[in-house]
Amino acid sequence: MKKIQMVDLKGQYNDIKDVVNPSIQEVIETAAFINGPKVHQFQKNLEAYLGVKHVIPCANGTDALQIAMMGLGLKPGDEVITADFTFAATVEVIALLQLTPVLVDVNEDDFNINIEAIKKAITPKTKAIVPVHLFGQCANMDAIMEIAEANNLLVIEDNAQAIGAYYTYKNGKKVKAGTIGNVGATSFFPSKNLGCYGDGGAIFTNDDDLAHTIRGIVNHGMYERYHHDVVGVNSRLDSIQAAVLDAKLPHLDSYNKSRQAAARKYSKAFEGIDSIITPKTVSKSCNGICDNCDCHVFHQYTLRVKGIDRDALAKHLNEKGIPCGVYYPIPLHKQKAYLDERYEEVDFEITNKLVKEVISLPMHTELDDEQIEFITSTIIEFING
Ligand SMILES: *Cc1c(COP(=O)(O)O)cnc(C)c1O
Repeated sequence: MKKIQMVDLKGQYNDIKDVVNPSIQEVIETAAFINGPKVHQFQKNLEAYLGVKHVIPCANGTDALQIAMMGLGLKPGDEVITADFTFAATVEVIALLQLTPVLVDVNEDDFNINIEAIKKAITPKTKAIVPVHLFGQCANMDAIMEIAEANNLLVIEDNAQAIGAYYTYKNGKKVKAGTIGNVGATSFFPSKNLGCYGDGGAIFTNDDDLAHTIRGIVNHGMYERYHHDVVGVNSRLDSIQAAVLDAKLPHLDSYNKSRQAAARKYSKAFEGIDSIITPKTVSKSCNGICDNCDCHVFHQYTLRVKGIDRDALAKHLNEKGIPCGVYYPIPLHKQKAYLDERYEEVDFEITNKLVKEVISLPMHTELDDEQIEFITSTIIEFING
């Protein structure tokens, strides 16, 4: 059996190196390292893939979130509601811009931001909601867009983990994740579903004015050379990274399909085991992990374990040569940097529980049946003691 990796970037590279290598080589030969033609080409191809009017590439996913918030004109003191159960980048940029993060609880079934909790957290100072499409499936965007409209709030989608996933509205209309709110932000960190070979990110929007504002912000607030109209940042996608991404983009759907296939095999193996709760797909178009499911792209395959010592299981897996991860072990509202005396523990019941139950299994495009069988049987043996 091949050694099991949490993410197998080397195996994936071996399959596409005939395309990636010349694409990188071309950048080097032409020395167009910054804002070269590859960046523009990738931007156009990603716009077409997502069905969105504007993609603005930038340096990483954290910058993408920050720049999105700057572009929307959020001001110090504005309250921004986001999920307690996510990677810290989401809340970090809110705090960095001196906006006030308001963390709220998530759902037990899909790990995404809870709609009732959003409603409860709205105050006259609330200006925006940041749903995070955690582990590869969209938050309930029908409800979030309704709340936003009713309360005049902006919506920034953190799409770092769900690129390529579809969201199906209640009326049946399907759109790509990250293109629903005022603006979407994504990351091309190597382990993401569409990853480059270093850091990268992008912002998406259908709003022409916002796209124009953001294009200036990423370039030192310049709309005309050496005229700085607003305070901006320097946040660029390197041409070499764009070359990698442009070579990988045509494979994204098949990569996501491989992840879904692995997820189905995992879930099938755990059927009937009471102490394991497999990930739920909650899209209206799909009642489970079906063969044609395109609403969950499994950035992570995350189990919940009941009545089992999660940390002992993780240790056992590692001893057997099976990497695994705990995303995330500590709720953001308990992180020192984001403590707020307004928070009450009763409001974070689900997150407080999830952090003790979740465990993410190896998930990438190169998992084979032998590896999946070894991983699932090792877990089942541990549970059966
Ligand atoms: C990875 C990630 C980010 C940050 O992306 P970077 O490119 O690492 O800055 C933000 N939000 C979520 C949910 C992520 O998973």
